[in-house]
Amino acid sequence: MNYLFTSFIFVEKLEKMTFDVDKIRAQFPILKQSMGKYPLVYLDNGATTQKPQIVIDAITAYYTSENSNIHRGVHTLSQNATTAYEEARSLIQNHINASKSYECIFTKGTTDSINLVAHSIGKTIQAGDEIIISALEHHSNIVPWQFLVEEKGAILKVIPMNSKGELDMNVYAELLTDKTKIVAVTQVSNALGTINPIKEMVKKAHKVGALFLVDAAQSLQHFSVDVQDLDCDFMVFSGHKLFAPTGVGMLYGKESVLKELPPYQGGGDMIKTVTFEKTTYNELPHKFEAGTPNIVGGIGLGVAIKWLSELNLTEVQKYEDDLLNYATVEILKLEGIKLYGTAEHKSGVLSFLVDGLHPYDVGTLLNQQGVAVRTGHHCTQPIMDFYQIPGTIRASFSLYNTKADVDAFIKALNRAINMLK
Ligand code: PMP
Repeated sequence: MNYLFTSFIFVEKLEKMTFDVDKIRAQFPILKQSMGKYPLVYLDNGATTQKPQIVIDAITAYYTSENSNIHRGVHTLSQNATTAYEEARSLIQNHINASKSYECIFTKGTTDSINLVAHSIGKTIQAGDEIIISALEHHSNIVPWQFLVEEKGAILKVIPMNSKGELDMNVYAELLTDKTKIVAVTQVSNALGTINPIKEMVKKAHKVGALFLVDAAQSLQHFSVDVQDLDCDFMVFSGHKLFAPTGVGMLYGKESVLKELPPYQGGGDMIKTVTFEKTTYNELPHKFEAGTPNIVGGIGLGVAIKWLSELNLTEVQKYEDDLLNYATVEILKLEGIKLYGTAEHKSGVLSFLVDGLHPYDVGTLLNQQGVAVRTGHHCTQPIMDFYQIPGTIRASFSLYNTKADVDAFIKALNRAINMLK
Protein backbone atom coordinates (compact mmCIF):
# COMPACT_ATOMS: atom_id res chain seq x y z
CA MET A 1 0.00 0.00 0.00
CA ASN A 2 1.29 3.44 -0.86
CA TYR A 3 1.38 5.19 2.50
CA LEU A 4 1.81 8.63 1.00
CA PHE A 5 -1.22 8.16 -1.16
CA THR A 6 -3.51 6.92 1.65
CA SER A 7 -2.37 9.64 4.03
CA PHE A 8 -3.11 12.19 1.29
CA ILE A 9 -6.66 10.87 1.01
CA PHE A 10 -6.99 10.96 4.80
CA VAL A 11 -5.86 14.59 4.94
CA GLU A 12 -8.24 15.50 2.13
CA LYS A 13 -11.11 13.85 4.02
CA LEU A 14 -10.12 15.52 7.23
CA GLU A 15 -10.08 18.88 5.49
CA LYS A 16 -13.64 18.36 4.35
CA MET A 17 -14.65 17.15 7.80
CA THR A 18 -13.09 19.99 9.75
CA PHE A 19 -14.78 23.32 9.40
CA ASP A 20 -12.08 25.98 9.44
CA VAL A 21 -13.59 29.42 9.73
CA ASP A 22 -10.29 31.19 9.00
CA LYS A 23 -9.97 29.40 5.68
CA ILE A 24 -13.57 30.27 4.82
CA ARG A 25 -13.20 33.88 5.86
CA ALA A 26 -10.04 34.38 3.81
CA GLN A 27 -12.12 33.72 0.69
CA PHE A 28 -14.27 36.83 1.27
CA PRO A 29 -12.24 39.92 0.26
CA ILE A 30 -14.80 42.44 1.54
CA LEU A 31 -14.36 41.17 5.10
CA LYS A 32 -10.73 42.27 5.13
CA GLN A 33 -11.53 45.96 5.09
CA SER A 34 -11.77 48.45 7.91
CA MET A 35 -14.46 50.99 8.71
CA GLY A 36 -12.32 53.93 9.75
CA LYS A 37 -10.13 52.67 12.57
CA TYR A 38 -12.28 49.59 13.24
CA PRO A 39 -12.16 46.28 11.36
CA LEU A 40 -15.45 45.52 9.62
CA VAL A 41 -17.74 43.26 11.65
CA TYR A 42 -20.44 42.25 9.20
CA LEU A 43 -23.58 41.06 11.00
CA ASP A 44 -26.23 41.86 8.41
CA ASN A 45 -26.25 38.49 6.71
CA GLY A 46 -30.02 38.18 6.93
CA ALA A 47 -30.23 41.13 4.53
CA THR A 48 -27.54 39.86 2.18
CA THR A 49 -24.40 37.73 2.41
CA GLN A 50 -20.95 38.63 1.14
CA LYS A 51 -19.47 36.93 -1.92
CA PRO A 52 -16.46 34.59 -2.00
CA GLN A 53 -13.64 35.32 -4.44
CA ILE A 54 -14.62 32.34 -6.59
CA VAL A 55 -18.02 33.93 -7.31
CA ILE A 56 -16.47 37.35 -7.99
CA ASP A 57 -13.98 35.69 -10.36
CA ALA A 58 -16.77 33.84 -12.17
CA ILE A 59 -18.57 37.14 -12.81
CA THR A 60 -15.40 38.79 -14.13
CA ALA A 61 -14.57 35.76 -16.28
CA TYR A 62 -18.05 35.75 -17.77
CA TYR A 63 -17.88 39.39 -18.85
CA THR A 64 -14.23 39.09 -19.89
CA SER A 65 -14.51 36.10 -22.16
CA GLU A 66 -17.96 34.47 -22.24
CA ASN A 67 -20.61 37.21 -22.49
CA SER A 68 -23.35 36.28 -24.91
CA ASN A 69 -27.09 35.67 -24.97
CA ILE A 70 -28.26 32.16 -24.20
CA HIS A 71 -30.59 29.58 -25.79
CA ARG A 72 -30.52 31.29 -29.18
CA GLY A 73 -27.13 31.49 -30.79
CA VAL A 74 -25.40 29.04 -33.09
CA HIS A 75 -22.07 30.70 -32.32
CA THR A 76 -19.56 29.40 -29.80
CA LEU A 77 -19.90 32.18 -27.22
CA SER A 78 -23.66 31.70 -27.04
CA GLN A 79 -23.32 27.96 -26.80
CA ASN A 80 -20.74 28.28 -24.01
CA ALA A 81 -22.90 30.75 -22.10
CA THR A 82 -25.91 28.43 -22.50
CA THR A 83 -23.89 25.47 -21.23
CA ALA A 84 -22.66 27.46 -18.20
CA TYR A 85 -26.18 28.68 -17.38
CA GLU A 86 -27.69 25.20 -17.68
CA GLU A 87 -24.84 23.71 -15.64
CA ALA A 88 -25.71 26.22 -12.91
CA ARG A 89 -29.28 24.95 -12.99
CA SER A 90 -28.03 21.38 -12.53
CA LEU A 91 -25.77 22.40 -9.63
CA ILE A 92 -28.75 23.99 -7.89
CA GLN A 93 -30.86 20.92 -8.66
CA ASN A 94 -28.26 18.69 -7.00
CA HIS A 95 -27.91 20.94 -3.98
CA ILE A 96 -31.63 20.99 -3.15
CA ASN A 97 -32.11 17.41 -4.42
CA ALA A 98 -34.76 18.24 -7.00
CA SER A 99 -35.47 15.18 -9.14
CA LYS A 100 -35.31 17.10 -12.45
CA SER A 101 -33.27 20.14 -13.44
CA TYR A 102 -36.30 21.63 -15.25
CA GLU A 103 -38.11 21.81 -11.91
CA CYS A 104 -35.67 24.63 -11.09
CA ILE A 105 -36.84 27.95 -12.56
CA PHE A 106 -34.51 30.93 -12.51
CA THR A 107 -36.17 34.10 -11.20
CA LYS A 108 -35.04 37.48 -9.86
CA GLY A 109 -35.22 36.23 -6.26
CA THR A 110 -37.57 35.14 -3.51
CA THR A 111 -40.02 38.02 -4.02
CA ASP A 112 -40.20 37.36 -7.75
CA SER A 113 -40.66 33.61 -7.18
CA ILE A 114 -43.56 34.09 -4.76
CA ASN A 115 -45.21 36.59 -7.08
CA LEU A 116 -44.86 34.09 -9.91
CA VAL A 117 -46.59 31.35 -7.92
CA ALA A 118 -49.30 33.66 -6.55
CA HIS A 119 -49.99 35.05 -10.03
CA SER A 120 -50.15 31.67 -11.75
CA ILE A 121 -52.13 29.93 -9.02
CA GLY A 122 -54.28 33.03 -8.81
CA LYS A 123 -55.71 32.25 -12.25
CA THR A 124 -57.36 29.15 -10.76
CA ILE A 125 -58.41 30.72 -7.44
CA GLN A 126 -62.10 31.33 -6.86
CA ALA A 127 -63.98 33.38 -4.29
CA GLY A 128 -63.94 31.59 -0.93
CA ASP A 129 -60.77 29.60 -1.66
CA GLU A 130 -58.38 29.73 1.26
CA ILE A 131 -54.70 30.60 1.48
CA ILE A 132 -52.72 30.01 4.69
CA ILE A 133 -49.59 31.91 5.66
CA SER A 134 -47.99 32.39 9.08
CA ALA A 135 -47.44 35.18 11.57
CA LEU A 136 -43.72 34.97 10.80
CA GLU A 137 -43.83 35.89 7.11
CA HIS A 138 -41.75 38.49 5.32
CA HIS A 139 -43.90 41.07 3.49
CA SER A 140 -43.03 39.31 0.22
CA ASN A 141 -44.93 36.24 1.45
CA ILE A 142 -47.93 38.30 2.56
CA VAL A 143 -48.66 40.95 -0.06
CA PRO A 144 -48.77 38.72 -3.21
CA TRP A 145 -51.46 36.60 -1.50
CA GLN A 146 -53.38 39.73 -0.47
CA PHE A 147 -53.63 40.58 -4.17
CA LEU A 148 -55.68 37.37 -4.52
CA VAL A 149 -57.91 38.41 -1.62
CA GLU A 150 -58.61 41.73 -3.36
CA GLU A 151 -58.88 40.43 -6.90
CA LYS A 152 -60.46 37.01 -6.45
CA GLY A 153 -62.21 37.08 -3.09
CA ALA A 154 -59.80 34.51 -1.62
CA ILE A 155 -59.61 34.19 2.16
CA LEU A 156 -56.23 34.69 3.84
CA LYS A 157 -55.72 32.82 7.11
CA VAL A 158 -52.72 33.30 9.38
CA ILE A 159 -51.12 30.69 11.69
CA PRO A 160 -50.51 32.54 14.97
CA MET A 161 -47.31 32.45 17.01
CA ASN A 162 -46.51 32.51 20.71
CA SER A 163 -44.32 35.08 22.48
CA LYS A 164 -41.18 33.02 21.76
CA GLY A 165 -41.90 33.29 18.04
CA GLU A 166 -43.03 29.67 17.53
CA LEU A 167 -46.00 28.84 15.34
CA ASP A 168 -49.06 27.21 16.93
CA MET A 169 -49.33 23.84 15.24
CA ASN A 170 -52.72 23.08 16.81
CA VAL A 171 -54.26 26.17 15.30
CA TYR A 172 -52.55 25.35 11.98
CA ALA A 173 -54.31 21.97 11.94
CA GLU A 174 -57.63 23.71 12.57
CA LEU A 175 -57.09 26.30 9.82
CA LEU A 176 -56.61 23.64 7.13
CA THR A 177 -59.85 22.77 5.32
CA ASP A 178 -60.82 21.28 1.98
CA LYS A 179 -60.97 24.88 0.71
CA THR A 180 -57.26 25.46 1.41
CA LYS A 181 -55.53 25.88 -1.94
CA ILE A 182 -52.03 26.69 -0.78
CA VAL A 183 -49.99 27.09 2.41
CA ALA A 184 -46.97 29.41 2.15
CA VAL A 185 -44.59 29.50 5.12
CA THR A 186 -41.02 30.54 5.74
CA GLN A 187 -38.57 27.87 6.85
CA VAL A 188 -36.56 30.34 8.96
CA SER A 189 -37.88 33.70 10.16
CA ASN A 190 -35.67 36.58 9.03
CA ALA A 191 -36.75 38.73 11.99
CA LEU A 192 -36.63 36.18 14.83
CA GLY A 193 -34.64 33.21 13.52
CA THR A 194 -37.35 30.63 14.31
CA ILE A 195 -36.99 27.39 12.35
CA ASN A 196 -40.45 26.08 11.45
CA PRO A 197 -41.32 22.33 11.30
CA ILE A 198 -41.86 22.42 7.55
CA LYS A 199 -41.89 18.69 6.87
CA GLU A 200 -44.69 18.09 9.35
CA MET A 201 -46.58 21.13 8.01
CA VAL A 202 -46.32 19.91 4.40
CA LYS A 203 -47.75 16.52 5.40
CA LYS A 204 -50.75 18.17 7.04
CA ALA A 205 -51.39 20.45 4.04
CA HIS A 206 -51.28 17.53 1.63
CA LYS A 207 -53.88 15.67 3.69
CA VAL A 208 -56.46 18.30 2.71
CA GLY A 209 -55.16 18.48 -0.87
CA ALA A 210 -53.43 21.87 -0.49
CA LEU A 211 -50.14 22.82 -2.12
CA PHE A 212 -47.21 23.96 0.03
CA LEU A 213 -44.68 26.71 -0.70
CA VAL A 214 -41.53 26.95 1.42
CA ASP A 215 -39.78 30.32 1.65
CA ALA A 216 -36.16 29.19 2.01
CA ALA A 217 -34.67 32.70 1.74
CA GLN A 218 -33.18 32.41 5.24
CA SER A 219 -32.55 28.68 5.50
CA LEU A 220 -30.30 27.61 2.65
CA GLN A 221 -27.31 29.65 3.83
CA HIS A 222 -27.48 27.92 7.23
CA PHE A 223 -28.30 24.27 6.52
CA SER A 224 -29.01 21.88 3.70
CA VAL A 225 -32.56 21.51 2.44
CA ASP A 226 -33.90 18.54 0.50
CA VAL A 227 -37.05 19.32 -1.46
CA GLN A 228 -37.92 15.65 -1.98
CA ASP A 229 -37.57 14.91 1.70
CA LEU A 230 -39.75 17.91 2.61
CA ASP A 231 -42.13 16.89 -0.20
CA CYS A 232 -42.96 20.59 -0.72
CA ASP A 233 -44.61 21.67 -3.97
CA PHE A 234 -42.60 24.88 -4.25
CA MET A 235 -39.47 26.22 -2.66
CA VAL A 236 -38.18 29.74 -3.25
CA PHE A 237 -34.93 31.52 -2.46
CA SER A 238 -32.65 34.43 -3.39
CA GLY A 239 -29.09 34.13 -4.66
CA HIS A 240 -27.81 37.18 -2.81
CA LYS A 241 -28.49 35.60 0.59
CA LEU A 242 -26.56 32.55 -0.54
CA PHE A 243 -23.15 34.05 -1.42
CA ALA A 244 -24.27 34.78 -5.01
CA PRO A 245 -25.05 38.05 -6.82
CA THR A 246 -28.25 40.08 -6.42
CA GLY A 247 -31.02 39.93 -9.00
CA VAL A 248 -31.17 36.16 -9.30
CA GLY A 249 -33.02 33.47 -7.40
CA MET A 250 -34.94 30.29 -7.80
CA LEU A 251 -38.36 28.77 -7.84
CA TYR A 252 -38.31 25.03 -7.38
CA GLY A 253 -41.63 23.42 -8.28
CA LYS A 254 -42.72 19.81 -8.61
CA GLU A 255 -42.97 18.89 -12.27
CA SER A 256 -46.59 17.74 -11.95
CA VAL A 257 -47.59 21.07 -10.35
CA LEU A 258 -45.58 23.35 -12.66
CA LYS A 259 -46.98 21.62 -15.74
CA GLU A 260 -50.52 22.54 -14.72
CA LEU A 261 -49.73 26.20 -13.93
CA PRO A 262 -50.22 28.90 -16.56
CA PRO A 263 -47.17 31.07 -17.36
CA TYR A 264 -46.41 34.26 -15.43
CA GLN A 265 -44.91 36.60 -18.01
CA GLY A 266 -45.10 36.48 -21.81
CA GLY A 267 -42.16 37.06 -24.13
CA GLY A 268 -39.16 35.42 -25.74
CA ASP A 269 -37.99 31.96 -24.67
CA MET A 270 -41.29 30.98 -23.00
CA ILE A 271 -43.02 30.22 -26.30
CA LYS A 272 -43.02 27.28 -28.67
CA THR A 273 -44.92 28.94 -31.54
CA VAL A 274 -46.40 32.41 -31.95
CA THR A 275 -48.98 33.61 -34.44
CA PHE A 276 -51.20 36.65 -34.03
CA GLU A 277 -54.09 34.26 -33.43
CA LYS A 278 -52.51 31.87 -30.92
CA THR A 279 -49.35 31.15 -28.97
CA THR A 280 -48.24 27.80 -27.61
CA TYR A 281 -45.96 27.66 -24.61
CA ASN A 282 -42.51 26.17 -24.25
CA GLU A 283 -41.61 23.21 -22.05
CA LEU A 284 -40.38 23.54 -18.48
CA PRO A 285 -38.38 25.39 -17.28
CA HIS A 286 -38.60 27.88 -20.19
CA LYS A 287 -42.38 28.33 -19.84
CA PHE A 288 -41.66 30.41 -16.73
CA GLU A 289 -38.50 32.16 -17.94
CA ALA A 290 -39.65 34.88 -20.35
CA GLY A 291 -37.03 37.22 -21.79
CA THR A 292 -33.27 37.41 -21.44
CA PRO A 293 -32.50 36.33 -17.89
CA ASN A 294 -29.80 37.43 -15.48
CA ILE A 295 -27.28 35.12 -17.13
CA VAL A 296 -24.22 36.07 -15.11
CA GLY A 297 -26.33 35.98 -11.94
CA GLY A 298 -27.45 32.43 -12.70
CA ILE A 299 -23.89 31.33 -13.39
CA GLY A 300 -22.74 33.07 -10.18
CA LEU A 301 -25.49 31.31 -8.23
CA GLY A 302 -24.33 27.97 -9.60
CA VAL A 303 -20.74 28.69 -8.55
CA ALA A 304 -21.84 29.85 -5.08
CA ILE A 305 -23.99 26.77 -4.55
CA LYS A 306 -21.20 24.47 -5.70
CA TRP A 307 -18.83 26.23 -3.30
CA LEU A 308 -21.34 25.82 -0.46
CA SER A 309 -22.16 22.20 -1.24
CA GLU A 310 -18.48 21.28 -1.07
CA LEU A 311 -18.45 22.28 2.61
CA ASN A 312 -19.62 19.89 5.27
CA LEU A 313 -22.98 21.52 5.94
CA THR A 314 -23.62 19.57 9.12
CA GLU A 315 -20.45 21.08 10.54
CA VAL A 316 -21.35 24.53 9.20
CA GLN A 317 -24.70 24.30 10.97
CA LYS A 318 -23.09 23.18 14.22
CA TYR A 319 -20.52 25.97 14.00
CA GLU A 320 -23.23 28.58 13.43
CA ASP A 321 -25.42 27.19 16.22
CA ASP A 322 -22.50 27.41 18.64
CA LEU A 323 -21.78 30.96 17.53
CA LEU A 324 -25.42 32.00 17.99
CA ASN A 325 -25.50 30.39 21.45
CA TYR A 326 -22.29 32.19 22.38
CA ALA A 327 -23.66 35.54 21.16
CA THR A 328 -26.92 34.93 23.06
CA VAL A 329 -25.10 34.23 26.32
CA GLU A 330 -22.79 37.23 25.88
CA ILE A 331 -25.50 39.75 24.99
CA LEU A 332 -27.60 38.74 27.99
CA LYS A 333 -24.70 39.72 30.26
CA LEU A 334 -25.41 43.35 29.31
CA GLU A 335 -28.05 45.25 31.23
CA GLY A 336 -31.45 46.13 29.76
CA ILE A 337 -31.35 43.69 26.83
CA LYS A 338 -34.62 42.15 25.68
CA LEU A 339 -34.40 39.40 23.08
CA TYR A 340 -37.15 38.89 20.51
CA GLY A 341 -37.37 35.37 19.13
CA THR A 342 -36.42 32.74 21.66
CA ALA A 343 -37.76 29.68 19.87
CA GLU A 344 -36.29 26.32 20.77
CA HIS A 345 -35.23 25.80 17.15
CA LYS A 346 -33.46 28.90 15.89
CA SER A 347 -30.94 29.87 13.27
CA GLY A 348 -28.72 32.80 12.47
CA VAL A 349 -30.52 35.73 14.10
CA LEU A 350 -30.25 37.72 17.31
CA SER A 351 -33.06 40.29 17.43
CA PHE A 352 -33.13 42.57 20.44
CA LEU A 353 -33.87 45.95 21.98
CA VAL A 354 -32.10 47.86 24.71
CA ASP A 355 -34.35 49.21 27.43
CA GLY A 356 -35.04 52.92 26.90
CA LEU A 357 -32.98 53.22 23.70
CA HIS A 358 -34.13 53.67 20.11
CA PRO A 359 -32.85 50.87 17.84
CA TYR A 360 -31.76 53.36 15.21
CA ASP A 361 -29.50 55.20 17.70
CA VAL A 362 -27.92 51.94 18.82
CA GLY A 363 -27.41 50.83 15.21
CA THR A 364 -25.79 54.15 14.31
CA LEU A 365 -23.32 53.92 17.20
CA LEU A 366 -22.52 50.31 16.30
CA ASN A 367 -21.84 51.41 12.74
CA GLN A 368 -19.44 54.07 14.00
CA GLN A 369 -17.46 51.21 15.59
CA GLY A 370 -17.37 49.12 12.42
CA VAL A 371 -20.29 46.83 13.30
CA ALA A 372 -22.94 46.39 10.59
CA VAL A 373 -26.35 45.35 11.94
CA ARG A 374 -29.87 46.04 10.73
CA THR A 375 -32.47 48.06 12.61
CA GLY A 376 -36.18 48.38 11.89
CA HIS A 377 -39.08 46.08 11.13
CA HIS A 378 -37.10 43.80 8.77
CA CYS A 379 -40.07 43.73 6.33
CA THR A 380 -42.10 41.91 8.98
CA GLN A 381 -44.39 44.61 10.36
CA PRO A 382 -46.97 42.07 11.68
CA ILE A 383 -44.26 40.57 13.93
CA MET A 384 -43.42 44.02 15.28
CA ASP A 385 -47.16 44.69 15.84
CA PHE A 386 -47.40 41.40 17.75
CA TYR A 387 -44.71 42.59 20.18
CA GLN A 388 -46.04 46.18 20.01
CA ILE A 389 -42.64 47.58 19.09
CA PRO A 390 -41.58 49.66 16.06
CA GLY A 391 -38.62 47.45 15.27
CA THR A 392 -35.60 45.63 16.64
CA ILE A 393 -31.83 45.63 16.26
CA ARG A 394 -30.89 42.48 14.36
CA ALA A 395 -27.46 40.89 14.31
CA SER A 396 -27.53 38.06 11.77
CA PHE A 397 -24.69 35.59 11.43
CA SER A 398 -23.17 33.58 8.64
CA LEU A 399 -20.57 30.87 8.28
CA TYR A 400 -17.67 33.36 8.03
CA ASN A 401 -18.45 35.10 11.34
CA THR A 402 -16.22 34.34 14.31
CA LYS A 403 -16.22 34.56 18.10
CA ALA A 404 -13.98 37.60 17.62
CA ASP A 405 -16.82 39.21 15.61
CA VAL A 406 -19.23 38.49 18.46
CA ASP A 407 -16.79 39.91 21.02
CA ALA A 408 -16.28 43.07 18.95
CA PHE A 409 -20.05 43.43 18.57
CA ILE A 410 -20.71 43.02 22.30
CA LYS A 411 -17.94 45.47 23.17
CA ALA A 412 -19.28 48.04 20.71
CA LEU A 413 -22.84 47.49 21.99
CA ASN A 414 -21.75 47.99 25.57
CA ARG A 415 -20.03 51.22 24.57
CA ALA A 416 -23.07 52.41 22.62
CA ILE A 417 -25.34 51.72 25.61
CA ASN A 418 -23.02 53.64 27.96
CA MET A 419 -22.89 56.57 25.55
CA LEU A 420 -26.64 56.74 25.10
CA LYS A 421 -27.71 56.29 28.71
N1 PMP B 1 -38.48 35.97 2.64
C1 PMP B 1 -37.61 36.07 3.65
C2 PMP B 1 -37.75 35.14 4.83
C3 PMP B 1 -36.59 37.01 3.61
O1 PMP B 1 -35.72 37.10 4.61
C4 PMP B 1 -36.48 37.86 2.49
C5 PMP B 1 -35.40 38.92 2.42
N2 PMP B 1 -35.16 39.60 3.60
C6 PMP B 1 -37.40 37.71 1.45
C7 PMP B 1 -38.39 36.77 1.57
C8 PMP B 1 -37.34 38.56 0.23
O2 PMP B 1 -36.15 38.29 -0.46
P1 PMP B 1 -35.70 39.17 -1.70
O3 PMP B 1 -35.76 40.60 -1.25
O4 PMP B 1 -34.32 38.71 -1.99
O5 PMP B 1 -36.65 38.89 -2.81
